Amino acid sequence: MKIDLKASESLELPFHTVVSLNERLAWLINLRWISIIALLFCIPIADKMLGFNIGFNEITNLAVILLVINILYFFIARYFQFKNEYQELAFLELQILIDLLVISFMIHYSGGIGNPFYYLYLVQVILSGIIFPGKALPYINAFAAALLLTIWTILEHVIMFDRYLLRSEPASLALIITSLIAFYIINFAGIYIINTFMNGYRSLKRIIDQKNVQLEQSIKDRSRTFRFAAHELKSPLIAIQSTLEVVKSLFSEDLRKEVKDMVLKAEKRSSQVIDMIKEMITVTQYNLGMEKPVFENVDFDEWLFGIVSHHKVYANKKNLELVYNHLSFSLNINIDVNGYEKVVSNLVSNGLRYTPSGGKVIVEPFVSDYSYGLVVKDTGIGIPKEDMEKIFEEFYRSKNAREAEQIGTGLGLNLVKEIVYLYEGEISVKSEIGKGSEFKVEFPLKEKQSGNEYAEELKQSVNL
Ligand code: ADP
Repeated sequence: MKIDLKASESLELPFHTVVSLNERLAWLINLRWISIIALLFCIPIADKMLGFNIGFNEITNLAVILLVINILYFFIARYFQFKNEYQELAFLELQILIDLLVISFMIHYSGGIGNPFYYLYLVQVILSGIIFPGKALPYINAFAAALLLTIWTILEHVIMFDRYLLRSEPASLALIITSLIAFYIINFAGIYIINTFMNGYRSLKRIIDQKNVQLEQSIKDRSRTFRFAAHELKSPLIAIQSTLEVVKSLFSEDLRKEVKDMVLKAEKRSSQVIDMIKEMITVTQYNLGMEKPVFENVDFDEWLFGIVSHHKVYANKKNLELVYNHLSFSLNINIDVNGYEKVVSNLVSNGLRYTPSGGKVIVEPFVSDYSYGLVVKDTGIGIPKEDMEKIFEEFYRSKNAREAEQIGTGLGLNLVKEIVYLYEGEISVKSEIGKGSEFKVEFPLKEKQSGNEYAEELKQSVNL
């Protein structure tokens, strides 16, 4: 079902949106499937086990009619192009009214007001209180329910007296009047409470939605400013770095050792800051939706190995052992290579950055029947217990990390988490101070893969 989104703007948010109406439509139809099944299941029980003398054949016919009607609704909801929300609301209202009518017949065939199930009307009234915005339709439906029950009761009492009786005795006039009054009170009090609650809930939801939009806007604005600042900083820093390189290469001979060391130090620092700025630009680009996903079908192991290999130079420079444990089989999978690369690179580079020289970082992909992912283990500084959750927040850096590695933004893991959640994955971390950390990223496999049978085989380990 496709509805012009512009048309939806003419109605008030949040319960008049195309999505919420479609959901409600589908919900109502699904609820009806359940009640039809329950009805068809209960009829033989009431007939055989409880021995009621009521119109079982008529009720079965009604259930079948309801089934046919619901199939019709299902196809209308799926294939009919509603022009606007008003048409869709009318379709929902029609369903409620027809349901009320079907319930009337059902109650009549099962003993009328003598059958306590006449309170089924209330289910429809409650549903309409939840589904429809405003006051009009919920109250119209509550009124329709009360009217139908009254008319049927009068008809049964005056014209079709005693036809279908749940109990051996027909209900007395006093009982009928009391039952009707009880129904009116519960019906109207019920719809008043539900309607008041739902309208309050709707306005609250509207406010929350508006605040959310504002919040998202301000996050975007902040990201824009951030990105702008990062861009502005990048060019002068690159200029400083190039100047230092020129000084180093042209005047290296003439410089005193201390000056030369200072130039080298400054060059190193500026290149670290440039890396940091590049990371800030990447993160803000992602937050602003400027980095589009690039879906590709890849051999997961091969692809991952390629990404991890990019970190070999840094690992060697820092005298770290970077180990890759190959999968013993191939898993071809369609992934957002752009997003996933950021996840892997951030985890591996963190492992390398927060592990002192002589340590080890191991990257290990895994596949099970319903998931796949990777584990990045290191023998580094570890993460303090109290920071385990905080490290996924923007700009958060642990004290020990700040001491070990001055350069860092605290943005990487936040981005990793966002991307992992975007693809319905999970990220977890285990760590021990001074011993190392282990990050595990796991994504669901849409189709069952025969991973386990291979998982037993030996994995090939490669030192990069
Ligand atoms: P950055 O590394 O730039 O500080 P991240 O968002 O990538 O930012 O990481 C946030 C923090 O999480 C780090 O500052 C550090 O405290 C902690 N952290 C992440 N990975 C590791 C790791 N492998 N070992 C120890 N601490 C880590």
